[in-house]
Parts: sequence; C-alpha cells; structure tokens
Amino acid sequence: MKIKINENFKNIKENYLFSDINKRVKAYKSTHPDADIIRLGIGDVTLPLPKIVVDEMAKASIEMGAKETFKGYPPEYGYDFLREMVVDYYKRNKVTLDLEDVFISDGAKSDIGNIVDILGDNDIYIPNPVYPVYVDSNLMSGRKVYYIEGNEKNKFLPMPDGLDCKPKVIYLCSPNNPTGATYSYDELVKWVEYAYESGSLIIFDSAYEAFITDGSPRSIYQIPMAKHVAIEISSLSKMAGFTGIRCGFTIIPKELTVGDTSINALWKRRCATKFNGVSYPVQRAAYVALSPEGVEESKKNLAIYKKNTEMLCELFDKKGIWYSGGKNSPYIWMRCPNGMKSFEFFDYLLDKANIVGTPGVGFGECGEGYFRLTSFASNEDTKKAVERLNKLL
Ligand code: PLP
Repeated sequence: MKIKINENFKNIKENYLFSDINKRVKAYKSTHPDADIIRLGIGDVTLPLPKIVVDEMAKASIEMGAKETFKGYPPEYGYDFLREMVVDYYKRNKVTLDLEDVFISDGAKSDIGNIVDILGDNDIYIPNPVYPVYVDSNLMSGRKVYYIEGNEKNKFLPMPDGLDCKPKVIYLCSPNNPTGATYSYDELVKWVEYAYESGSLIIFDSAYEAFITDGSPRSIYQIPMAKHVAIEISSLSKMAGFTGIRCGFTIIPKELTVGDTSINALWKRRCATKFNGVSYPVQRAAYVALSPEGVEESKKNLAIYKKNTEMLCELFDKKGIWYSGGKNSPYIWMRCPNGMKSFEFFDYLLDKANIVGTPGVGFGECGEGYFRLTSFASNEDTKKAVERLNKLL
C-alpha cells in the first residue's frame, strides 16, 4: 500500500511490562513446577458483581426481548435515568452537577483516550509514574508531553511549584495508579488555582475515588472554581466491579469555556459523531450500582480488598519499609529493599517468596526502584503472602 499512516505511532514505546512479567513467571514455573505462586500484581477486580446489580441487568435484558419494552440505540450521552443518578451520586458527596454536564461512557479508558479529539496542540503535563494511557493517547495525536516528577520527597504527588505560567493540559490521577497516593484538599486547591491563573485545563481521573476513606476529595469539583478548569473522568470498574461489563462517566461542566466556545458542546458534538452509547442493560446495572443501596453492596467487596491493603500496610509499617497508597487505594507502592531496581526485586520476590508484583519502572522512569502490590487477590492468598514477606524482608 502507498497510503500514509499516522507516523506518531512510531513515537510510542511498546509496553512490554505485563508480557515481560508473564514470561518471567512462565520461565520460573517451568523450572519450579510445584511453586505456589501468589499474584499481587493483579490490576483487575476479582470479586463478582453485587446481586442487586446482576438482578437489574437481567431484568433489563429480558425487557429487550419483549416488543413493548425493546430499546434500540441508546442516547449518545447516556439515558437520563443514569445521568440523573450520577448527579445524585455527586450530590451525596456535596457536589452539585447539572444533568447536561454528565456523559455516560463505556469506561474511563475510552474517554481518557478520546478526550484528545476536542483539544488542540497544547503542551501536555503528566505526572510520572502514572497510568500509561494519558501519555500514549497524547503521543498518538502528536502532542508534546512533559513529565512532572513524582518522588518520595513529594510523596509521589507532584505539585505545580516551578511550572511556568503558560496554558497547558494537565493530567491528575487521585488516588493514583500505580502509587496509591491521594491529593489532599489543600493540594488540589493549589492545582486548581494554578490552572485558573495559567488558563490551563486539568483532566482529573477519579477512577479510584470509592477507595478514599480519609476525607480527601473524591471529586475535583469539591474544590471551589474547579468547574472552570477541570474535566473529571470516572468509572464504575473498580468502585462496583464493572471491568467486564464496562461503564463510566465523564463530567464536563458548562463553565468550561475557551473564549465563547463551550468544551461541553465540543464533547457533545464528538459523542454524537463517534459514539453510539452504552447498552441499556449495562446502564440499568450502573444505575443500581450508583444508587445508595448499590453503593452499600459494593462497599462489602471494597472492604474485602481493603483488608488486604491493611495486612500489607501493617507489615510494611512494622518493618519500616517506605510506601505510599494502601490507605485510600487498592495499590501499595513500596520502595524496593536494599536499593534493588524494580525488576531485580521482581525476580528476587518471585524466587524467594513465590510472589508476583508489578515493577514500578513499568509506569515511568520515576518508578525505578519501586514496586506495586495490589489488593485484588483473596484474603487467604494475601495473608499467606504477608507471612512470606514477613520472613523475607
Ligand atoms: N484510570 C485509571 C487510573 C486506571 O487505573 C484504569 C484502569 O486500570 C482506568 C482509568 C480504566 O478504567 P475503565 O475500566 O473504566 O476503562
């Protein structure tokens, strides 16, 4: 063929992290077939959906099989019943939204990837280490990406100090994947003020907000003026176990404008052109999951995951090992012992304790020397892993 391709794809580094991990585990298993390997690297939920959610999805599926209740294409922005429930969910968190600010998606990843469609050639500022989708989706559209360094000194919560005052697009993820670090109210105030003064846009990823227990903001809109500077992208994936059935939402307040152009209107136009909505049974499931009863049900699953992070945090506290996360997040981000590099510690842990985690360097250069453990294994496996780590570290 002689067509032109998107040359920007050549600037994206292949991410071999999880295939590399699988290869190492496979090789280890071939030489140690009896090893009882515990996986604390899982970034996906493992507990089933709450019954109330499944029942609703089943009811909605049956409606699709009857002439009177069958539904065709859903609205591009989501059914109003779900958009209203999202507004109500935020209201319970003391944030007032307008129904028109809410867009239902098939998950946060899609909208994080798609949001670049409505933005021009801005400089992009992304914390490092972080969820890789922000970087790759911007590189695919030829944007210039700058990293804001996360380190132990700033508790892996980079701040705007030292940034110039030119307008830019800034990605923030709180609680963060992979570090579990969570911005406080005062820290987010500084980011919102910086964005307002510099004319910048914040894209705030709150996919893990349901894990917050210490009163830190669960939405950027808890910060005054945030509606003038921030888009929020969120998901039912980790909050309610929707990774397999796919539903999320994006908030674009009408206050977000560039001159007399409304960002909300641009996104509406984009959705109408490129998206045909989320299936009716899934939206009904999401409706129930975000209702007060659904949230209570999901909390039971979150409590099981939380027990795992508590066991791990307790051990690291006892051993004096530096870590972030765990408290408001399913992730614990630990410093590798004895100055080991991320992959060195991976091999050491696999060999000496038969535990698999995720090397921090896979989330960006600033993650070198760190390691991510997750809470998505069973309580029994995590307890066993903690016993092994207690002996090893
Ligand atoms: N944002 C962050 C920070 C994530 O870690 C993930 C998934 O791991 C997502 C978004 C994607 O969420 P979804 O399943 O809704 O696409």
